[in-house]
This record gives sequence, C-alpha cells and structure tokens, in this order.
Amino acid sequence: MFNLQDKVAIVTGGSSGIGLATVKAFVAKGAKVILSDINVEGGNQHVAAIRETGGEVTFFEANVADESAVQALVQFAVDTYGKLDIIVNNAGIGVLAETHQLSYEDYHRVIKINQDSIFYGSKYAIQEFLKTGSGGAIVNVASILGTVGQAGAFAYNASKGAANLMTKSLAAEYSSRNIRINSVCPGYVESGMVNKEALGDYYDGLVAQHPIGRLGQPDEIAHAIVFLCENEFTTGANLLVDGGYTSI
Ligand code: NAD
Repeated sequence: MFNLQDKVAIVTGGSSGIGLATVKAFVAKGAKVILSDINVEGGNQHVAAIRETGGEVTFFEANVADESAVQALVQFAVDTYGKLDIIVNNAGIGVLAETHQLSYEDYHRVIKINQDSIFYGSKYAIQEFLKTGSGGAIVNVASILGTVGQAGAFAYNASKGAANLMTKSLAAEYSSRNIRINSVCPGYVESGMVNKEALGDYYDGLVAQHPIGRLGQPDEIAHAIVFLCENEFTTGANLLVDGGYTSI
C-alpha cells in the first residue's frame, strides 16, 4: 500500500467542499499537505484550524487556470517539504446555461478551470515524480457528468469527460514508471456549489436522481480519493462514487 504517512500532497480547490475534506483526510493519514485555492482568506483560516490540531498543512494561492501559477504551486510544495508525492486536481466550477445561449467566455472559463488545470497540475507534478524516481499519485476530480450528459451542462460535461479520458491517457503513459493516475466521479455532493439553500426545489429533484435517497458528503469523496492514492494496483480508473446516480 502507498502509505500516506509523511507523503507530500497538493490539493487544489482546498478551501471548500471536497477539496477541504480531502486535505483533512490526508492530514489524518499523516501526510504533509499544501492546501491551494484562489480563496486566500478561507484557505488560511482552514490551515490555521488544522495546524491547531497538530496537522502539517500550508496554504498557497494559485489559480489552476494559469499554467505559471500551477508550476509555482508545485515548486512551492518541493521547496516547503522537499518533494512531491501526490496531486489532487480538484478545483472546479460549473456554469448552467442552455447551450444555444452559452457565451464563449463562460464555455472557455469552465474548460480552463476544470480541464486545462489537469494538464498543468499533472505535467508539473509528473516532472517532480520523475526527478525523484519514487513515483507518485494523481487524482483528478471528475464527475458523474463526465460519464453521462445533463441538459444545460455542456461545458461542464465536456470538461469532466475530458478529465476522465485525460486520466486514462496519463495512466497509459506513466503507470510503468510507478506513477498512478485515477479520477473520482462523484454524484451530487453537498458543498459550496450544491446545497438546499442555493438550489431550493432543484435540490429535491437532485436527491430523487440518487437511488440511495440523499446527496453525498464531501468526506465520502475524500475517502475514495484516499483509496485511489493508497491502492497500488489501481491506475486509469474513473471511480464512480455516486449513490447510484448512473445506475438508473
Ligand atoms: P466548492 O465550490 O465547494 O469548492 C471548489 C473550490 O475550488 C473553492 O474553494 C474555490 O475557491 C476553488 N476554485 C474555484 N476556481 C478556482 C481556480 N480557478 N483556481 C483555484 N481554485 C479555484 O466545490 P466542490 O463541490 O467541493 O467541487 C470540487 C470538485 O468536485 C470540482 O471539480 C467539482 O466539479 C467536482 N464535483 C462536485 C460535485 C458536487 O456535487 N459538489 C459533484 C461532482 C464533481
């Protein structure tokens, strides 16, 4: 098993939701974590709270849509903790709009943040993994909407479908060099983007689409991300953690 004790991990979009739960899950396993986000205030607050419990975590501001920022993030992890073992490309956004009314700007913003970020994060992490020769793990946070379509989610569908196939492409290329690349495909999860307050009646409709009868919790996705890092025979997987959403 890829023991997470003293492993150095980057989590993008770590100030909220699935990213924050993943930071906490890694810290609980003894990893040293760089929590990265564009939300500086939130990120620093979470870092302070985790440090109070004895966890080893540091904040770094990086916009995942900016290649040089992601390169600097990877360099910061190496400068801070001496190496890099894991990157979780988690930061993401959604835009809901009918496709015939979707602006190029909104379409491209989603592609840049959800998809280009995986290229940048993987590219610079892999450069470090290859330097040390001790391998590494990448987890891309995709979605059920990377496997099935949804009305009004054209750009998001495109970006998450790409996330899943970029995962397989990287696994085909790097697994023989002890670098494992997997994605997790959550169903709807309670978070900054998805909650009853923000979505109202639409929230109830989402619950009805999950045979398990509820939405997921960030911790349940973090648990799967830990598994994908720890299990050394798993690479190229697009792991559904979706309360049965894609089974109906
Ligand atoms: P969230 O909104 O709670 O957290 C997303 C975090 O990403 C925020 O802290 C935000 O500041 C950060 N972020 C946004 N743009 C960024 C950028 N350009 N650079 C760096 N950080 C940025 O969302 P979440 O639900 O935890 O989503 C995390 C990931 O899970 C996303 O990739 C999302 O698409 C995916 N996902 C979420 C759900 C869900 O239902 N919540 C379902 C499937 C997949």
